[in-house]
Amino acid sequence: MTLLQIRNLSVVYHNGSRTVTAVNGVTLDVEEQDSVGIVGESGSGKSTLAMALLRLLPGRTAKVEGEVLFGGQPLLELGERELSCLRWKELAVVFQKSMNSLSPVHRIGTQMADVYRLHEHETRLSKKQVRERIIKLLESVRLPARVYDLYPHELSGGMMQRVSIALGLMHRPRLLILDEATTALDVVTQGQILREMMELEQELRLARIMITHDMSVVAAACKKVAVMYAGHLVEFGPVQDVLRHPLHPYTQGLLRSLPSFKGAKDHIRGIPGSLPDLSSPLQGCVFADRCEHAMPICRQAQPVDTAYSGSRRVACHLIGGEAHAAQ
Ligand code: ATP
Ligand code: SF4
Ligand code: MG
Repeated sequence: MTLLQIRNLSVVYHNGSRTVTAVNGVTLDVEEQDSVGIVGESGSGKSTLAMALLRLLPGRTAKVEGEVLFGGQPLLELGERELSCLRWKELAVVFQKSMNSLSPVHRIGTQMADVYRLHEHETRLSKKQVRERIIKLLESVRLPARVYDLYPHELSGGMMQRVSIALGLMHRPRLLILDEATTALDVVTQGQILREMMELEQELRLARIMITHDMSVVAAACKKVAVMYAGHLVEFGPVQDVLRHPLHPYTQGLLRSLPSFKGAKDHIRGIPGSLPDLSSPLQGCVFADRCEHAMPICRQAQPVDTAYSGSRRVACHLIGGEAHAAQ
């Protein structure tokens, strides 16, 4: 069953006279217990998309348009009260910088208990029961019970990130969004946390969106992948299909820059050029300036997000053909 439906979502930042279209017409479904990786280079709109889903963007400077249904509820239309019931309890997020949000002067357990009480109004657990619950949660992310009584500076980066994940799981949400949550960790710790995450998900029947610029993380830990470029979702599909046979030239470029996917190190090359200026309107394909396959049509018409086969989708004139371009 589909848990999250994102339809034609756009986010425009307004800073004085400058406007930046950070997310541009994104449509994406996340099924129950699915794991979807969102990849793309820095500035492609991944975090903006996550913050828009969680309604964490400042209304004054960020204009969000489109439709988002979570378990059938229209997320973008909910009032603050309904939203606060949903956040953390059904829909939780862990950012890379989440670990910085803990106060250095209070013990981990005390801070987790505060977060627990802030979002839990129905059950009135005693202090002891809350402590037991939090220790259980710490253990579920493979942290020893003694972490409860430690201060943030007494933990390693990996332990802190586990605490952040435990906080995200506190109310057993149906969807957990991880935004570069394991990026700062060394490869071994990252791999270990990802494996544990996947085990926990099975147990908790959790769906996950994992935002990263690292395709190898997605390959290891996600069932599906959405590739973003300059605010657009350019390709989507099951991870194995996209890795074996990437359709969009941008995805092909991303994969070519990974030695583990495409042969020896001397074949590594980045994608020349940089993201287009998101403050001026673009005609045609958003990737045209960097694409080695660009054709005249690519400068004239924006490629339409097109179903390819199964659940695969791609937005490129090479795949859709001119018939799609004319739509
Ligand atoms: P990274 O991989 O570096 O985290 P990202 O894919 O998460 O990048 P975003 O942070 O969503 O990208 O940024 C998308 C675009 O929106 C960028 O051009 C960025 O400069 C712009 N942007 C982000 N936040 C704001 C803001 N508060 N005001 C104006 N522009 C912003
Ligand atoms: Fe390249 Fe054209 Fe496809 Fe864009 S639409 S990715 S420019 S071939
Ligand atoms: Mg980001």
